[in-house]
Amino acid sequence: MANYSRREFLRMGTVLAAGFGLGRAAAPALADGLQRIFSGQKRVLWLQGQSCSGCSVSLLNSEDPGPLELLTEFMSLVYHPTISATQGSQAIDTIQKAIQTGGYFLVVEGSIPTKMAAACELGGRPLTTILPDALRRADLVIAAGSCAAFGGIPAGEGNETGAAGVGEFMQSCGIEPRQRLVNCPGCPVHPQSIVGTLAYAASKGYPDVNSELFTPDMFYKNSVHDDCPRFHYWQKQEFAEHFGDEGCLFKLGCLGPLSHTNCPQRQWNGGVNWCIRAGAPCLGCTSPGFARQQAFSFYRKGEKHHAVAYNEQDRKGGAS
Ligand code: SF4
Ligand code: SF4
Repeated sequence: MANYSRREFLRMGTVLAAGFGLGRAAAPALADGLQRIFSGQKRVLWLQGQSCSGCSVSLLNSEDPGPLELLTEFMSLVYHPTISATQGSQAIDTIQKAIQTGGYFLVVEGSIPTKMAAACELGGRPLTTILPDALRRADLVIAAGSCAAFGGIPAGEGNETGAAGVGEFMQSCGIEPRQRLVNCPGCPVHPQSIVGTLAYAASKGYPDVNSELFTPDMFYKNSVHDDCPRFHYWQKQEFAEHFGDEGCLFKLGCLGPLSHTNCPQRQWNGGVNWCIRAGAPCLGCTSPGFARQQAFSFYRKGEKHHAVAYNEQDRKGGAS
């Protein structure tokens, strides 16, 4: 295992803080959090429900720390279903030991099949029988991605598994999500939201969250619409009619007004680009209703498919 100096942790903390828009003052705290996770003071247990593993893949796009450092050195990963070598009963033993010891951060990726336990098993055991204890004994629970946060695609209209988000599942088990659950939606979740939430929580504890959605303010306060580079077109009511046109993408199905996250600032793939800058409407991937209804734009093909019901007076914060 490599040895990192305090200076290197501070550099990574500064990069994370800049990505959050928190400013340099937050860097030491984030550096401290990364250092605690790195040193094993904070272990991370990662479990998967109904998911495509896309949020784990997204984590591999992490920068500073990069994916290899992150997975092999930073995250004292007790278990991860895709990355860990252990499988079957060995995996169950590892998870049970972690649960008995307690004091870990639990990351859950994917939704929970509340009506079809066999839809998601681990070592021959339904996830729904392992998860309650894992949730109870965790210091913090992070729902990684929209499936884990709100049900997402597996909870789409007509699903038969009873796919539920982690918060809903916690409540069904009598576990209070307040001050314990942090929802980090996205399809997939941005790696910075996961690494940042882990680092912040390891250093400073439970972050400030939206009181209904449990999404951390540092990543999910403003809507995509609030900070959109095409917002001036919206103000002038100049709308694109076809993909590739100048103008606001609202009439091409943009869900930026309903989707709260900081895509306009941090973008994707190390700041290379993001949906609206690439000329595509926001698909609303962080919104609680993402992909739940057949009418959702995610499932619709072509231009002019919809304009969402949206009242500008409901907009909070951001550009004016
Ligand atoms: S509707 Fe979409 S494209 Fe138009 S300003 Fe809002 S986020 Fe940007
Ligand atoms: S712009 Fe919208 S659809 Fe694209 S990643 Fe951000 S929240 Fe998701």
